[in-house]
Amino acid sequence: MASFQVNQKCTGCLACVQSCPAKALSYEDQDGQRSLLHNPLLCARCGHCWRICPEGAIEFEQFLQGKWEKVITTDLVRCTVCGEPVYTAKVKQILSDRLKEDLEALCPRHRSGAALAAWHNALSTGERLKGVRK
Ligand code: SF4
Ligand code: SF4
Repeated sequence: MASFQVNQKCTGCLACVQSCPAKALSYEDQDGQRSLLHNPLLCARCGHCWRICPEGAIEFEQFLQGKWEKVITTDLVRCTVCGEPVYTAKVKQILSDRLKEDLEALCPRHRSGAALAAWHNALSTGERLKGVRK
């Protein structure tokens, strides 16, 4: 959602457009409707439009405060042992496709633990095999 927002109190009077010193506001009249346009690249964040709007329609606070805006959300995959986020489901899919195997989701801590367990397992199997050969 854009941080420069105009609420439903806007009457489309264009006072803000006419007074914007940076020409960051514009409008288009199309199909019986008027749309207000804002260009964040041109905007100097001077707040003049916010002060001049007779309706208090410009919601400028978030824009001025420079708050973080959520731009996309994707599903997370968590470590099967501790639940710590490991990667996103999309990254897991890409890795699984490339490696041609279904990866078990393990965080770095438990991944090294699993590798160690596999190593011990291999060693003990090797010892057993050596014992059989004797
Ligand atoms: S000055 Fe306010 S009411 Fe007029 S067009 Fe701009 S935002 Fe809408
Ligand atoms: S904050 Fe200033 S530069 Fe930006 S749209 Fe409003 S009047 Fe224009």
